[in-house]
Amino acid sequence: MNQRLWRSAIAMVATDLMLSPLLLCAALWVRCREATILREGKPLTADEIALARAVGVSVVDRVRLFPADAVPMPLPRWLRRAAELHGWLSPHIAGMTHGYGIVLRNDCYGDRRLLAHELAHVAQYERLGRFSGFLRQYLRECVWPGYPHGLLEIEARHAEAMAAGTLTQGRENVIPYAADKTNDPRSHD
Ligand SMILES: [Zn+2]
Repeated sequence: MNQRLWRSAIAMVATDLMLSPLLLCAALWVRCREATILREGKPLTADEIALARAVGVSVVDRVRLFPADAVPMPLPRWLRRAAELHGWLSPHIAGMTHGYGIVLRNDCYGDRRLLAHELAHVAQYERLGRFSGFLRQYLRECVWPGYPHGLLEIEARHAEAMAAGTLTQGRENVIPYAADKTNDPRSHD
């Protein structure tokens, strides 16, 4: 195993140990947020449903959009700031996906690229296993290689490019990240 793979493997184990309690808290928070958004959010329009299908979402009629003044984070201000300084979080979060619930900042609502990005995360939740599968991998990648360089974010940015019409190769060249789960959307946690 070369040095880069060793570093990646060690970082993954250390990150998992560090993130275990965080993962549980994050999963609970995400489940609560999703329940609220599914209850109060807006269903996708026909055009948005077509976009969701194009980026790989299977159960498109479950998706709900929730406009908000700011994207809520379950972190104290100082911890969020520290995470931003370490590159684990973006200071410009315009949207966030909680299972089938998507929060979009009001001033970005209607942004097709942003929606494609968040819908790609919905597809990842379906593919990796809702909550623990997706969240574990996403948190790992925020630490190593750091936001937004993880494979899940790269895939979501490909979806953005596809929505903007700047991805010349098309979706068939986007490599879905599957981790240790199958691509069967029924394999939810
Ligand atoms: Zn993202």
